[in-house]
Amino acid sequence: MISNYHTHTKRCRHARGEDEEYVQAALDRGLQILGFADHSPYIFPGDYYSDFRMPMEELEDYVASVLSLREKYADQIEVKLGLELEYYPGCFEETMQVLKGQPLDYLLLGQHALGDEQGDYFTGWPTEDEAVLKRYVRQTLEGLHTGAFSCFAHPDLIKFVGAPEIYQKHMREIVREAKALGIPLEFNLLGLQTHRNYPNRLFWELVAEEGAKAIIGFDAHQPAVLRDEDLGEMITDWLGDLQINWIEKL
Ligand SMILES: [Zn+2]
Ligand SMILES: [Zn+2]
Repeated sequence: MISNYHTHTKRCRHARGEDEEYVQAALDRGLQILGFADHSPYIFPGDYYSDFRMPMEELEDYVASVLSLREKYADQIEVKLGLELEYYPGCFEETMQVLKGQPLDYLLLGQHALGDEQGDYFTGWPTEDEAVLKRYVRQTLEGLHTGAFSCFAHPDLIKFVGAPEIYQKHMREIVREAKALGIPLEFNLLGLQTHRNYPNRLFWELVAEEGAKAIIGFDAHQPAVLRDEDLGEMITDWLGDLQINWIEKL
């Protein structure tokens, strides 16, 4: 592993540690590239407050901090500036207008809710409703087609607990379309380490079958996870005989 493009900061209110500690942990692991992709600020209509992302007022500080770490560690590691955000059709354009003013290297699509988030289904909630699964697929495909995203983070985030055939039928569309667009699908280590519903075996069977590009992401919410030495073995065990078309650079 030479890179990680999925690193959060304390600005999202649920990650810990100083920005620099993430860089130091990445150096300890011997990474060549460390990308910060904290939960992006989002412009919502009205006074809705989204509590798991960086507030817009902190965007400038985030950008300045990552750029200064890039300078400071230039001869040891490549520090990249990114953000992770959802595709919310009603407020994506307006949010992008603001983000475009920043020197961002890349954006990760991470679809934590459907609709425009407010009062809608969160993708970590269990559902056996095929209609919800279809909405997830439709909305994320629309997101991928905007051309704004370099990678799809935890594409298998949705916790569908219905029939495996139904799941694979719809999720295959994501895998095929990502492959056609050349957008890598992220194998999410946070999910693996904390035994969440993702990475989902049924999804990664499809990724192997279709030969779509894939990349490993830590989704680090604390610096120490970047040092975890048992991870390599954990990944190999989990994948078993699945043949994945890995890439390491976005
Ligand atoms: Zn997070
Ligand atoms: Zn994340």
